Amino acid sequence: MSSDKAKVHPLFAVPDVDAAPEEETPEREEQQFSSEPAVCQFCFGSGMEVVSGKGARRCRCRTQNNQAKLLEAARIPRRYSECSLQNYYPIKGNGTQLRAFNYAFRLVREYPAVDRGLVFMGTCGVGKTHLSVAILRGLIEKGIGCLFYEFGSLLKEIQNSYNPVSQTSELKVLAPVFESEVLVLDELGASKPTDWVRDTMMQIINTRYNDRKLTIFTTNYLDGRRAERDETLEDRIGVRLRSRLFEMCKTVQIEGEDYRKRFDTQQP
Ligand code: ADP
Repeated sequence: MSSDKAKVHPLFAVPDVDAAPEEETPEREEQQFSSEPAVCQFCFGSGMEVVSGKGARRCRCRTQNNQAKLLEAARIPRRYSECSLQNYYPIKGNGTQLRAFNYAFRLVREYPAVDRGLVFMGTCGVGKTHLSVAILRGLIEKGIGCLFYEFGSLLKEIQNSYNPVSQTSELKVLAPVFESEVLVLDELGASKPTDWVRDTMMQIINTRYNDRKLTIFTTNYLDGRRAERDETLEDRIGVRLRSRLFEMCKTVQIEGEDYRKRFDTQQP
């Protein structure tokens, strides 16, 4: 037997870089953010990185690549690409915004031990989409596959993919919507509720309802009327769909002024 064997140290598994952040030296930070090398300098393509004196763990390039891929696959619109829980500021004294923030925060923290999604309701510009995207971002950081769709664009994509020969819509569009672990459907009820729109909404939402998949909705329509001529969410999506939403999601109403008005500087 060779005496060299005695010198081989066992390799221990250590937590992922995200689970146990280690101190960054300026050199390491520089290496990490400098232009991407062809082969990872930490694992040399093996996927396992050695932590000196401790053992081995999944390489940081794998977790970072994974998150970048999940973010790309989520189709978050560019305008909302920076939205997160960290830069959502509930307006002082506005309890509904703080409450909405708390629901979003809790969902991210407790997922996957969460069995209901959220319906953010409120007028234009109160931060419904911002909070929905912030939830997706938080979940993606936990490695969860997510998808964002503005409902009107989704309906258009389905229409465009309609195949007159087979009389079916391409499953290529619908499959990810059915299957995504978490889905945001923005602007529910905004499209004119034709029979086709209602049937398609029913097909999508009912599939996710049956599969118990977490879905987050935003809508400008409320459950009650503030003025006689107001339409309710039920008027827009129908009583059967509204009923399913009650079971699938917690309704969170947000009040407030249109946040976008802040960008109107009132300067001459
Ligand atoms: P809604 O979906 O309710 O129409 P958005 O989420 O699109 O509103 O918000 C409009 C803009 O205002 C976005 O750029 C969003 O990031 C910003 N915004 C809204 N509310 C807040 C808030 N409380 N804190 C920070 N930004 C906000």
